[in-house]
Amino acid sequence: MTLFEKIIARQIPAQIVYETADILAFRDIQPQAPVHVLVIPKKPIVRLSAASDEDAVLLGKLMLAIRDVAAQEGLAEGGYRVVTNNGDHGGQTVDHLHFHVLGGRRLSWPPG
Ligand code: 5GP
Repeated sequence: MTLFEKIIARQIPAQIVYETADILAFRDIQPQAPVHVLVIPKKPIVRLSAASDEDAVLLGKLMLAIRDVAAQEGLAEGGYRVVTNNGDHGGQTVDHLHFHVLGGRRLSWPPG
């Protein structure tokens, strides 16, 4: 069971900011910006490259959840960044698909 599955199961505490039947969003424990929320499917998809065509509706719902979380966090007007780290070279450390929503300051580009 991954760390994020334990958060979904309420076995590990997290600051949950948004929840639906198939999606959860909570604050990152090591925030990299004034707002740093992780948006995840409850289904344990390991990473984006492991998603299947049957996940199309869920992936669309995740994008719309990100839109709603960003608005809820007051980021819609100023802007924000959405990132998914996929695999080793992507810098993924937790093997459960997640989207970082970062905002509240001007972010630099490109990432390291
Ligand atoms: P990744 O590096 O896989 O893209 O992102 C994993 C994220 O999970 C990191 O930003 C890290 O700070 C966050 N994280 C790791 N452990 C915990 C935890 O126990 N609780 C929360 N809320 N976030 C965590």
